[in-house]
Amino acid sequence: MPRAIKTPHECRSQIVGTLRRTCPYCGHVQTHHITPTTWKLRCKNGQCTREVGYGQVFYQLDNPRKARRMTPPDLAFPAREVREYQNGDPVHVLA
Ligand SMILES: [Zn+2]
Repeated sequence: MPRAIKTPHECRSQIVGTLRRTCPYCGHVQTHHITPTTWKLRCKNGQCTREVGYGQVFYQLDNPRKARRMTPPDLAFPAREVREYQNGDPVHVLA
């Protein structure tokens, strides 16, 4: 797991739009409309309907020239780790 770093200002972001994902339990491909308060996604497969929470990860890129040549292997349709949610856990991780 990448270590957290201190930055001069707090990093905040908001996703509004659509999110396409696969369900980690049944594999169903689906699209969700994301609002500023969306954090739970329910599977639209009527045989499954499992819910997952989701968030974002940010990385510091120290060398912009080097970063330009890098392409994360999970850029287009990334695989995601699924964790067990406990009340009070953050849904966004700044790394
Ligand atoms: Zn499902």
